[in-house]
Amino acid sequence: MPAYKAPLDDFDFLYNEFLDLSACAELPTMADASPDVVEAVLDEAAKVAETVLQPINAVGDEIGCRLDEASAEVRMPEGFGEAYRAYREGGWTGLVADPEYGGQGLPSFVGLAVSEMINAANASFAAYPGLTLGAYEVIHHHGSEEQKATYLPRMISGEWAGTMNLTEPHCGTDLGLLRTRAERAEDGSYRITGKKIWISAGEHDMVDNIIHLVLARTPDAPAGTRGISLFLVPKFLVEADGSLGARNGVKCVGLEKKMGIKASATCEMEYSGAVGFLIGEENRGLGHMFTMMNAARLVTGIQGLGMASAAYQAAVAFARERLQGRSLDGPKFPDQAADPILVHPDVRKMLLISRASIEGARALGLYTGVQLELEMHHPDEPVRRQAGYWVALMTPIIKAYFTDLGSEVANLGMQVHGGAGYVRDTGVEQFARDVRITQIYEGTNGVQALDLVGRKLVANNGENLKAFFTPVMAFIAEHEGQDELAEFIDPLRDNAQLLQDTTAWVYQQMSRNPLEAGAAGTDYLRLFALTAMAFMWAKMAVLAAGQLDQGAANKGFYQAKLDTARFFMTRMLPETRSLAAKIRAGAAPLMDFHDDAF
Ligand SMILES: Cc1cc2nc3c(=O)[nH]c(=O)nc-3n(C[C@H](O)[C@H](O)[C@H](O)COP(=O)(O)OP(=O)(O)OC[C@H]3O[C@@H](n4cnc5c(N)ncnc54)[C@H](O)[C@@H]3O)c2cc1C
Repeated sequence: MPAYKAPLDDFDFLYNEFLDLSACAELPTMADASPDVVEAVLDEAAKVAETVLQPINAVGDEIGCRLDEASAEVRMPEGFGEAYRAYREGGWTGLVADPEYGGQGLPSFVGLAVSEMINAANASFAAYPGLTLGAYEVIHHHGSEEQKATYLPRMISGEWAGTMNLTEPHCGTDLGLLRTRAERAEDGSYRITGKKIWISAGEHDMVDNIIHLVLARTPDAPAGTRGISLFLVPKFLVEADGSLGARNGVKCVGLEKKMGIKASATCEMEYSGAVGFLIGEENRGLGHMFTMMNAARLVTGIQGLGMASAAYQAAVAFARERLQGRSLDGPKFPDQAADPILVHPDVRKMLLISRASIEGARALGLYTGVQLELEMHHPDEPVRRQAGYWVALMTPIIKAYFTDLGSEVANLGMQVHGGAGYVRDTGVEQFARDVRITQIYEGTNGVQALDLVGRKLVANNGENLKAFFTPVMAFIAEHEGQDELAEFIDPLRDNAQLLQDTTAWVYQQMSRNPLEAGAAGTDYLRLFALTAMAFMWAKMAVLAAGQLDQGAANKGFYQAKLDTARFFMTRMLPETRSLAAKIRAGAAPLMDFHDDAF
């Protein structure tokens, strides 16, 4: 089975050299987040990932979850209960949560790094605390004081878990169609009736209570998305003194068999007049839920990144060991029966695509994490607003591009293994199966592309776009003319120009024909993502070159950074040209095709 080693040296580089944390200095969340504390937290998280969660990853895949139909309870695979207890007792469930309710209040960008490690080690396990954190965020933002006091402390401590219930049999993307009903009761609560499907962590035996967040319609609600309200529906009702009361009218009636993340319970939930409590205002539920979905989308991107990182490590280990063929320019290890496959250009290409994707994405994720922190906690409104533009723009890009690269890298990892990757023993095919769902849930990647083109580009009078191009242009201006950096700055400048031109073209076309937005969508999102990655790689290359000039002790690390940046600029970034050409082919080749001919 693959042995995961958390990339602590890369996190160290990103936190201590790459991220500009000066703007965060005044944030309350930074008060206890000195570099020493962050380093200690990441070291400990690495241990949990490597020694507690990774060892049960394959067991979870083999055994999966099991529904006990008599009790409607889901039994977790062997080892998960103990691992969850260790995780919760270690305080990980409250890492970034509000100290007022018992959390540790660390910045969300520390949480993202921890999340990458946990997902790399065991993506199924990560779903449980991940969903609880999302539910915590919604209640924290939109819940009443009483709801916060009742539910948050025990969700933060990990005694209780959370879920999100949007999907119904006839509606996934188009939530305007949802039918679950919420009838007002005399005591001010509601009675929830309906069926929700594919609810992650909908039922399991690792916690005492599960707090479901459920989208439903009141009888007089307007049709469509403007008539959706959000309800809190606990599995066990909570008494006034905080103790657990009666079992509520919600239960798991089915468990999906699926391709991957088999230890993440995917539940069919039946609500039969369950007691629910309105969160926020009636008919504003979708907006409230989106608080959770935006954070969840970033974390879904990080899931893709985590699994990519684990798959890459397994592929490197295999490529060093597996002896096949000889290097094209003559034997590299003449005393062995054959050379390790690491000598072959095609294998190296697969490994370098993986590495450049992972490290660039890690930088982009944490950079966005800093903006998220500023957006949530900075005392000055203009700073919060400005950071929010970056986050709004990058959320669909990170969700879709990181999960796409997760799948690509997991597949490359399998390819590097040859047949050994396809059979189960090496454990790498599990990454390809587990990561695949990340491209589908939390809004499919196609829908992320529509969000980017149809909403984020046009929102806020172009401020979202400006929030991206302004730092990119400032960075280019700062380093232009430095010959030794031209190999990084020139392609970044050319691509920023290409992205600007393509954006203007798309914008113009879609104002004429809305189908153009959908036709450009996924290619445009990838073009944007690759340009954002080029920005990250150029920044990292400048830092690495500077360290090498100054004779840094850790020369191997910086040289590898610089060489990976070179690989990205020369062997990955040129894809943007073909994306731009495809985008400019427009909607006609798609839409003129006759429906009957499919
Ligand atoms: C393992 C798993 C776990 C899940 N966990 C949860 C959970 O915890 N809670 C929850 O509520 N849901 C959950 N889901 C549901 C998941 O979020 C949905 O499957 C997802 O949002 C897509 O909806 P759908 O499957 O109905 O696809 P559809 O909406 O039917 O889409 C089918 C295809 O059409 C495309 N499409 C649809 N509409 C458009 C459009 N307007 N423009 C362009 N393309 C479009 C989609 O991109 C997709 O390719 C889970 C699903 C799975 C499989």
